[in-house]
Amino acid sequence: MKNDLPKFLHAISFAAKRHSTQKRKGADEQPYVNHVLEVANLLANVGKIEDFDILIAAVLHDTIEDTATTESEITKLFGAEVRGMVLEVTDDKSLPKARRKELQIQHAPHLSDGAKCIKLGDKISNIRDVSENPPADWSAERRIEYINWGERVVDGLRGANANLETHFDNLIAAAKQNFQ
Ligand code: NDP
Ligand code: ZN
Repeated sequence: MKNDLPKFLHAISFAAKRHSTQKRKGADEQPYVNHVLEVANLLANVGKIEDFDILIAAVLHDTIEDTATTESEITKLFGAEVRGMVLEVTDDKSLPKARRKELQIQHAPHLSDGAKCIKLGDKISNIRDVSENPPADWSAERRIEYINWGERVVDGLRGANANLETHFDNLIAAAKQNFQ
């Protein structure tokens, strides 16, 4: 879908309500919705993505995984394309964490280009948080482990958006300097 500002704003309002009681894990406890807006902003202004279905799916990318939102709600309000991309980046929460992390590495190369861009934006946002605003109880070792895992996921996402990849690579180089 090329240009649908009303639906994009609807998605922002929907995500803000669904994530309204959630906070990020960083010490400053930012509202959770800041993260999904950061991802959409990265896609539009770094990735230069203009496809509204991808931008809307970026805003909604954690609604099924982290809130009571259902697939059918997303389809009804935002369409099957958006639902498809949100599902592509949704972990199966019935699996143990280590398995979910392994599956993200395995699934990355098989995602659609839109979902690859959303995943790249997600990893940029999370690694920036791990680098600049980590959970208070995370050791340096755990933060490094997260960054290394993020790099492995992103290895499978390459080829979808050169601008986002360059942004990610610069972030990783800066993040690694923090731990030297
Ligand atoms: P979590 O999955 O518990 O937390 C990371 C996720 O939380 C991110 O992917 C992000 O997901 C969300 N998040 C919200 N706020 C922040 C923030 N400020 N900074 C970073 N992430 C944030 O942690 P892990 O990825 O580390 O997963 C657990 C794994 O960690 C286990 O598999 C275990 O192996 C390992 N572990 C390592 C320890 C160590 O000391 N080395 C100790 C304990 C566990 P989203 O985009 O969905 O918001
Ligand atoms: Zn996310």
